[in-house]
Amino acid sequence: MLPETNIRKILIVGGGTAGWMAAAALSRLIKHDDVDITLIESEAIGTVGVGESTIPHILYFNRLLGLTEDDFVHKTNATFKLGIKFKDWGHLGERYIHSFGPYGVPMDGLHFHHFWMRHTKTGPVPPIDDYNLQILAADAGKFQRPINLANSPLSTLTYAFQFDASLYAKFMREFAEARGVKRVEGRINDVSLNAETGHVDAVTLENGERHEAELFIDCSGFRGLLIEQALKTGYEDWSDVLPCNRAVAQACESTGAPTPYTQATAKSAGWQWRIPLQSRTGNGHVYCSDYMSDDEALKILQEGMDGRPIGEPKLLRFKSGMRKKTWNKNVVTLGLAAGFMEPLESTSIHLVQTGIARLLTNFPDKSFNQPDIDYYNARTRLEYEQVRDFLVLHYYVTERDDSPFWNYCRTMDIPKSLKDRIAIYKENARVYRHDNEVFGEASWFAVMHGQGLTPKRHHPLANMMPDTELEQRMSDIHRTWGKCLESMPDHQAFIDANCKSDL
Ligand SMILES: Cc1cc2nc3c(=O)[nH]c(=O)nc-3n(C[C@H](O)[C@H](O)[C@H](O)COP(=O)(O)OP(=O)(O)OC[C@H]3O[C@@H](n4cnc5c(N)ncnc54)[C@H](O)[C@@H]3O)c2cc1C
Repeated sequence: MLPETNIRKILIVGGGTAGWMAAAALSRLIKHDDVDITLIESEAIGTVGVGESTIPHILYFNRLLGLTEDDFVHKTNATFKLGIKFKDWGHLGERYIHSFGPYGVPMDGLHFHHFWMRHTKTGPVPPIDDYNLQILAADAGKFQRPINLANSPLSTLTYAFQFDASLYAKFMREFAEARGVKRVEGRINDVSLNAETGHVDAVTLENGERHEAELFIDCSGFRGLLIEQALKTGYEDWSDVLPCNRAVAQACESTGAPTPYTQATAKSAGWQWRIPLQSRTGNGHVYCSDYMSDDEALKILQEGMDGRPIGEPKLLRFKSGMRKKTWNKNVVTLGLAAGFMEPLESTSIHLVQTGIARLLTNFPDKSFNQPDIDYYNARTRLEYEQVRDFLVLHYYVTERDDSPFWNYCRTMDIPKSLKDRIAIYKENARVYRHDNEVFGEASWFAVMHGQGLTPKRHHPLANMMPDTELEQRMSDIHRTWGKCLESMPDHQAFIDANCKSDL
């Protein structure tokens, strides 16, 4: 028997990616006959269904669920992702890859890039991308999983997935239903609040069915049915630093082997994504409606596609920012209901995942201890702000002056937290990972360097290594990385051999 204080009824509102991920994780970890987990969704309302590119932390989520990866890739029409190729961001005509893997190896306790910068002072040297195995592999269309071989760069390979959002939600749904989650179809048209506590007591469907619970997880998408419409929590608007507010998305036919990376090409009032799956390519154009019409955005999207469009384009409106509280009373929010930042670094599904993990760590009993809730909210805010700063970096560190949109971004006032990071990097090339944030030093370096930010000098301790030793080490790394690349299979061959989709 569960103690009286334990939560027995959990209601998830919404069956998009967020709702079904929450249902899958809770059903895996909360296993007790007395606990009921129900999910309500409305087919008539539907889902956003465009989140298709992920970051490596999703591997932990898959491990938590105990998924077999090849089966997961096969069933979601997925491909592997080593990073993101950015085109035309710092300057028109330039490109760089933000990979998930390291540059070279740390030497004498310092990041590799300091030594590479010192090396560049000695004469022409290979670009730093040649010392990042994932960038080399992405460019060459190669992929393999890491191997357990000490000191080999092949052991450092880090990857994520590009998958079909609707197949992913279906996969999560099957997982959750097999573990006892009850699904209710219907549109919620009323939310009852408790007159004394202000907590949500129940939701009522159009057909009159009433569903009570003790803990509600609001995954109802942008509308925030419980957190906003019922609890009036408030939304913090970040569109001053992330001005894009619309996206038009449409898939197209594949025209070749899928690349093991997502592509983000800057446009005159935003940017365009290209996410290759096994049997088709996802595309979308994220833009700011102050600078571009919907018709023009669609035209640019279709001109930038590889193959023939499939289906109808989907227009989405959003406002970058987050709820003032992502946990309010007995309602926890995940996904678009909690907040949204454009998918430039594929972070939304990740934020759902960390929200679920944080909820489990701070899982309430019926007392809903306020300090736990405050802690949850503070950590969520910190995480969102760190992601925001990383995204803003892409817009701010640019020399593009070819459109009013870029003139705005290049000169906008940015958060102090980001200003400080840029100032430190500009002076002596130092990058930091703050507070266990999602993007580490290599990521901050990749974007700052990739977008043309040039530091005045490198770390002074990188000058301690004798010239001959530096020369030798750099050439050893370059040679070893090249050999490892040669040994890697093609991405397509890897998929064909291990996890080919039936589509
Ligand atoms: C343009 C764009 C591109 C994106 N690309 C990426 C990406 O590449 N990578 C990434 O990680 N993320 C991406 N995302 C984010 C990602 O799509 C979302 O985080 C993810 O899909 C979660 O959505 P959701 O489940 O919160 O909301 P939704 O998909 O909107 O689901 C909401 C659910 O609530 C239900 N619902 C709503 N109201 C009611 C009601 N009254 N009664 C009953 N049910 C109701 C709906 O039926 C639906 O089931 C992108 C988002 C956008 C907008």
